[in-house]
Amino acid sequence: MLFFVSVGMLVDPAIILREPLPLLATVFIIVFGKSIAAFGIVRMFGHPNSTALTISASLAQIGEFSFILVSLGVSLALLPERGRDLVLAGAIISIMLNPLWFALLDKFLAERDASAKKASGEEKPVPRVELPVSQLFNHVVLVGHGRVGSVVSKALRQANTPFLVIEDTPGAVERLKKDGIEVITGNAAAAGMLQAANLAAARGLLVAIPDAFEGGQIVAKARAISAGLPIIARAHSEEEIAHLMHHGATSVIMGEMEIAKAMIAQIGAAGAAA
Ligand code: AMP
Repeated sequence: MLFFVSVGMLVDPAIILREPLPLLATVFIIVFGKSIAAFGIVRMFGHPNSTALTISASLAQIGEFSFILVSLGVSLALLPERGRDLVLAGAIISIMLNPLWFALLDKFLAERDASAKKASGEEKPVPRVELPVSQLFNHVVLVGHGRVGSVVSKALRQANTPFLVIEDTPGAVERLKKDGIEVITGNAAAAGMLQAANLAAARGLLVAIPDAFEGGQIVAKARAISAGLPIIARAHSEEEIAHLMHHGATSVIMGEMEIAKAMIAQIGAAGAAA
């Protein structure tokens, strides 16, 4: 602070009136000279225009190093005092102008992005395609067909329980279709997915995905559709159990707990046999 205050005290504000044109030239060199050089160098290294413009805007000023250099220049009689005054005043003006460059740059980049999006048609409203609603009734809706879901679906098949799967991985979807299992492709948390699974007429929902955050969203949407539906979800920690219960799950199975129980049961059985 002391440094900047002492530098500030060196500036002679009268220079604005005394030498307006040389001061303007100094500011021009600081703001545009440095920025153009920075822009060229950044582009030479293959970075995009937006990066080059941001670097240019941040270098469109000079700071304490220039104060030290001009002071040294004057003390070594390399620079007249007038030069030091111009550099100091130019530095202060360039620092004051800097936020303006950033504001203009932000505006420019936002407008450019918006017109690029418009040109690529990204902003065209996507017509919402209504998913066909499953004809299944009194069925189980199984979300996720990975390590957990595939075991569940095998058991449901063997028990002749009607069910359908909501799965978002194309490979898993293909396998399900090949096996003749009804499948809805996509993220179960997305709009319209649970409705397409005819959840209102289902006997239960099994959320067999590992992500409890996404699981919570699915459970909450399902609970909004049916207040009395049994919803069983999957978790990996006590916090996740609490999260899923809070969103309306009827019960939550924590994989790690079931592994521990099975281990205890097996060692118990081994102990009894020995
Ligand atoms: P696993 O952890 O091995 O039981 O696999 C979980 C399965 O759930 C994977 O096949 C994922 O593609 C699927 N999955 C995960 N999140 C979702 C979701 N939100 N909607 C539909 N399927 C999902």
